[in-house]
Amino acid sequence: MSDLPGSGWRRRVLVAASAALAGLLLVSPATAGAPTPTPAGSDTREHLDLGRLAGEAASVVEVLLADSGELDRLVATGVDLDHHVSRTASGIVVHAVVTPNEVATLRAGGYRLGDVLFTPADSARRIAEREATIAAHTAENEALRETQSRRGAQAPADVKIIRADYYTSGTDQVLSVEAKWAQGQTATDVLTVTRDSGPGTPMGSGGTQTIARFVDAGVYLYHRGASTVTARPNYIQITSPSGDVAVAKVNQWLPIPRENPEGPGYQKDFVSSYLTPTELYDRIHQLAEQYPRLAEIVELPYKTNGYRRKAQAVLGSANPSRVAVDSKAWGHEGGNDITVEFADPGAADQTLSVQVTGNAIRVSLGTDASGAVTSTAAEVVAALNATAGSLVVAYTYRGDTGAGVVAPAASTPLTDGLSAPASVSRDPHPVYAIRIGKDRSTRKLGVLAYAQEHAREWVPPLVTIETAERLLRNYGHDRKTRDLLDNLDIWIAPSINPDGGHYSFYDFNSQRKNMTNHCPQTGSADALGRNSWGVDNNRNYTEYSLFDGYSGASSSCTSGTYAGPGELSEPENRNLDWLASRPNIKFSMNLHSSGNYFMWSPGAYATPGRISAPRPTLGEESFFWGASSRILTSIKRHRNMAVTPARTGPISDVLYSAAGNSGDMLWYRYGIYAWNFEVGTSFQPEWAEAHDETMEFANGLVELMRVARDFDTDRRRPESGLSVTRSATPGMVDVRFEVSEPAAVFYTLDGRKPTYSSTLYGSAGIREGGETLTVRYGTRIHWFSVDAAGNVENNYRPDGRGKNYRKGVAIPPRR
Ligand SMILES: [Zn+2]
Repeated sequence: MSDLPGSGWRRRVLVAASAALAGLLLVSPATAGAPTPTPAGSDTREHLDLGRLAGEAASVVEVLLADSGELDRLVATGVDLDHHVSRTASGIVVHAVVTPNEVATLRAGGYRLGDVLFTPADSARRIAEREATIAAHTAENEALRETQSRRGAQAPADVKIIRADYYTSGTDQVLSVEAKWAQGQTATDVLTVTRDSGPGTPMGSGGTQTIARFVDAGVYLYHRGASTVTARPNYIQITSPSGDVAVAKVNQWLPIPRENPEGPGYQKDFVSSYLTPTELYDRIHQLAEQYPRLAEIVELPYKTNGYRRKAQAVLGSANPSRVAVDSKAWGHEGGNDITVEFADPGAADQTLSVQVTGNAIRVSLGTDASGAVTSTAAEVVAALNATAGSLVVAYTYRGDTGAGVVAPAASTPLTDGLSAPASVSRDPHPVYAIRIGKDRSTRKLGVLAYAQEHAREWVPPLVTIETAERLLRNYGHDRKTRDLLDNLDIWIAPSINPDGGHYSFYDFNSQRKNMTNHCPQTGSADALGRNSWGVDNNRNYTEYSLFDGYSGASSSCTSGTYAGPGELSEPENRNLDWLASRPNIKFSMNLHSSGNYFMWSPGAYATPGRISAPRPTLGEESFFWGASSRILTSIKRHRNMAVTPARTGPISDVLYSAAGNSGDMLWYRYGIYAWNFEVGTSFQPEWAEAHDETMEFANGLVELMRVARDFDTDRRRPESGLSVTRSATPGMVDVRFEVSEPAAVFYTLDGRKPTYSSTLYGSAGIREGGETLTVRYGTRIHWFSVDAAGNVENNYRPDGRGKNYRKGVAIPPRR
């Protein structure tokens, strides 16, 4: 561990707090990995098998609840909720992602459902919109290239300047240029911009700058870039690699308001459509190639299990006569070529047999004296496994004994059901992060942003991309951005769950989890269960998890909040654990959608009783609130969208319990100030809305970098004082500590020197400020305060040897 200021006392406090709580846990952490415990609580409506079937479409539907108790019970069913919870006088409304079958189960379980808010048709429109955008850009590039290849004497140049803007503020002078080049789709050259140095001066007298390709979703859009200049140019000129020349006059941009943290010429707006995980990773690779001194790609240590499945079919309709068949090979590695036929031999007294011809499996069913089929599902399963066992595994349906006689079935192809184009890898997928900073070592304060733990949340990854682009493309000319990148070690992981992400784009838009099937053959491992498989990556972490007895995660492999077979069972989660364990990371943002929430720990409680994971100290909570107000102000700057106070605060206060979520692991295990964004209003809004959400939350994420930087440079020591008032109890007085900034106070009442092991001054309650201590009149109080950056009041050394701690006596001032 690096010795970051501040990290020491926080970690000590957390250990103590966790130890105190351990006695309250229903299941101790030591049993993690043992058979999954029953989630706390005893309501009869828990453990509903919601029954999502493959081929069923999922929609976002309102569930109308009476109170928090009913919300806790709904969460305990393991239903797939989005991140929307609105509390009104008449009750609580949440949004569930459910199929018709699941809707019926919830209704039967006594839940009231409201409006349908989002359907697969909405997703289809978003995908069509994205494809139309990409096609339009491609066609535009095509047309430009066509024009160029057929050009005659008066043909236009193959390079076109879109805009040239000059800005000033103080002594900074910046020129920003955008230009389109006919070969930009295929050739990767940068373009060189030549400047004059003012009216009447020769071209070239102002020097040159380069601009680079801007490629979005694999499509070239234009070249862009900004650089500082020493004189205001009047004209610029670009000579393309083929020798064509374009000239344009330079415009002056409007001055930028002084309170805006984005300096003159600040570049933003780098996304033009939704991006698949493959495209997200391409994008950060491009950035790292373009800015090799400022960024590098890090492949995280664990590959995913892959966007791949076994090819499958379920033959038959009634459960006792159903036969499930899975290929042994992955679908794309031959499984999809296999067919299975159940043939009626059309003759009496035939015995059951199986013939394998290449990839064609033919089961000739047994018959009786009258020629009627007699083979049961169990018999067919046994025959298939005996004869075709090198190609397939057969099993009865979901644990049924298989006593039903099977129905003949025409040759049925097994399929992995995966529709992504071949450009999406079927192999275990590397997960990438881009590491940004001039000094990418643990010497600098680390900040981590990560998105798409939940596959269907398409906007949050764009926020991370937009942020990475802003940081890198503004470095050259924006002093404040340069200060961030010179002094921070920034890790951005745009997609933690690429397999699920691909699945949500190409196969099942409502996919929340990863793609790994942990269901047993006696459960939902068959083809009909495939849209319910997967682990909720935001429930598979180590702190206050299902395995520790906390609420808001499920042990059912088909649940929307399936916690997995054990903590960190999934490669996606081990990757994030690895990222969080970088010793210098002190701040993080976990980006989700939707609901316009801004949250931090604790994120889980145990039911019954809502026994929460330990709350941050008063000093920490103050710091969370202080930093949050800056971040929310930045978000609001984009279009005045406000994240309301009701949607800001600890997760378990403003949303619902989410056992084993990543924010809690980062905070409790690694001492990282870990926030969570819930971006925007829905998972896959129309592009115009998605674009605005990206811009506003990128404002917020960049502001987190500024918060981190200011934290790093905070050398101001907190100051504190005692407030003593008369108590209602004779002989006693009420005492409170007041601090000059967000800070923790450690105190003693027995005359000893205060240290980090002394009592920590607590908060009076949720959002209520400091507690009131009632102590004996005349008690000697010794204390010190320490801020979040580790600055100790009066330069006191709280190691038991220092002397200049604060001292006071519990006597109220005379009136
Ligand atoms: Zn989410």
